[in-house]
Amino acid sequence: MKHDFPNLNVIEHPLIKHKLTYLRNQDTTTDSFRRLVRELSQMLAYEATRDLPTENVTIRTPLAEIAAPVISGKKQCIVSILRAGNGMLDGMLELLPQARVGHIGIYRDPATLEPVEYYFKVPQDIAERMVIVVDPMLATGNSAAAAITRLKEHGVTTVKMVCLLAAPEGVRCMLERHPDVSITVAALDDHLNDHGYIVPGLGDAGDRIFGTR
Ligand code: URA
Repeated sequence: MKHDFPNLNVIEHPLIKHKLTYLRNQDTTTDSFRRLVRELSQMLAYEATRDLPTENVTIRTPLAEIAAPVISGKKQCIVSILRAGNGMLDGMLELLPQARVGHIGIYRDPATLEPVEYYFKVPQDIAERMVIVVDPMLATGNSAAAAITRLKEHGVTTVKMVCLLAAPEGVRCMLERHPDVSITVAALDDHLNDHGYIVPGLGDAGDRIFGTR
């Protein structure tokens, strides 16, 4: 997928493409949808953490003593944008089991599409952590940008974002408001419709994860 966004990392992998196709299909059942979100989140977490620093520690294998790398630097915190972000937590935590978890509740006012915050709970030491914000759909980008602004107000300086799908409008919004935040996605879709849904997209991610429609 060719694009001009310096902040966007679209992961080109046959497994991701395959699973995303099933995720998009409107006939996919709720349990399959949830499993696919978990699997895709795990694979995207793998890619988003490619640049984590490592340091050598000395260990003994059964045959020799060696200096071998382990993750170093800041500890992680995964922040879920409620409620659809919660569907991505299990997959992310499988790869980062030591990570803390924060939640930010933001809904889009249906008339203005502007974000309204109703919940904010993050670890006390979040300013010292590398934060990975998860939300399956980067649509207008307003909720994600507002959530990251709040995190930065709490002293956070290192933020990444992981989404399943993004619209160009959302990526552009993030580039303008948080150019320091890299975004890892399974695909960049075509556009947003008049209701702020990503096209072709997969519909309402929260409703499909939780089976509420
Ligand atoms: N949120 C969703 O769940 N789906 C979209 O397409 C856009 C925002």
